[in-house]
Amino acid sequence: MHLLKLSDPREEDVERLLDWVRARGEVRKRVDMPGECAIVFECDPGFEDPPPPPFPAGRVEILEVGTPYVLAARAAREARSRVPIRGELVVGGSEFVVMAGPCAVESKERVVRIAVAVRRLGARVLRGGAFKPRTSPYSFQGLKMEGLRRLGHAGRKSGLPVVSEVLAPEMVEAVASRVDVLQVGMRNGLNYPLLEAIGRHPARPPVLLKRGIGCGLDEFLCAADYILAGGNPNVMLCLRGNTGFSKYSRATLDLADIPLLRRMTHLPIIVDPSHAAGRRDIIPSMAAAALVAGADGLLVEVHDRPEEALVDGPQALTLEAFGGLMRRLRALAPAMDREVAGEDLEGPSRGAFADLGLEAPPLRPSRFRTA
Ligand code: PEP
Ligand code: MN
Repeated sequence: MHLLKLSDPREEDVERLLDWVRARGEVRKRVDMPGECAIVFECDPGFEDPPPPPFPAGRVEILEVGTPYVLAARAAREARSRVPIRGELVVGGSEFVVMAGPCAVESKERVVRIAVAVRRLGARVLRGGAFKPRTSPYSFQGLKMEGLRRLGHAGRKSGLPVVSEVLAPEMVEAVASRVDVLQVGMRNGLNYPLLEAIGRHPARPPVLLKRGIGCGLDEFLCAADYILAGGNPNVMLCLRGNTGFSKYSRATLDLADIPLLRRMTHLPIIVDPSHAAGRRDIIPSMAAAALVAGADGLLVEVHDRPEEALVDGPQALTLEAFGGLMRRLRALAPAMDREVAGEDLEGPSRGAFADLGLEAPPLRPSRFRTA
């Protein structure tokens, strides 16, 4: 497959290039992005003769891409992609961005309490499931639209952008108008109509695309291309562990795939150690390993009272454990040329707990235990 990129496109330029491509092969997709038009096409070798119509230097670039994914391919962009969230935060830059919150949105007070605490401890995005895809149809399915309202309220109270899952193409508009980042879950990682619906959303919302069940890296990047090909360049990949044979963890965290993906794609990589581990005790180790392996951020489940959590309590970090993890990440980050937001548990961040009527964590330095 080939990729032709035209920067600062004018319609007449695009038409001339499409004609040039059609004379040599087959246009597979025209992708209109802000400031750039991309044409994915198939053709025989030697197609460059004669060369494309003259354009001011540097505006047209043609690449041959030897993979089934094209727009996500590392070669498709000179620099790594940066995904802006609400104009105030960038994923894929020097900041290691932590997204944290409960698995499912629960009471209004609880989600606000968790949001305010995680923000003070360094989270930059609030997570919370409103539409929960559950294994059993009889399990709690989330608070749905009311959950999105509560999540939005907690986002405004804490000042954090919010991420929540969208389950079906017909829900994209309703969810996209209420969240800052759309999450595609593992069960939907290969749901092409959903990915296409997100790709063609005119607002080009940031997307956190989880790796689908049993999905290889080529398939994962092709899934990303389904969104990118609609003209939405704001895709973040999320590794959340692959189902394996471990008796002791929910899945096996795909840590080796972080450096592999960095070679294969320019898209930012987020790691979700919570769903990979399924148990809170090994999450700090996995999270630290993700930072060191080159991830751009984390998605992590946090709850003020995990024993009361409606979903995924065993893998929810307590606020204290989350504070300890953030502190450890801040200590590791400079070695990786990264920054991590938030306050250490000593000093002012104790207020994060006191103001909320929660017991403050002890002041001793949090010890980082490997599992
Ligand atoms: C989630 O993050 O809420 C979730 C359901 O995760 P996954 O799709 O990775 O199972
Ligand atoms: Mn969960």
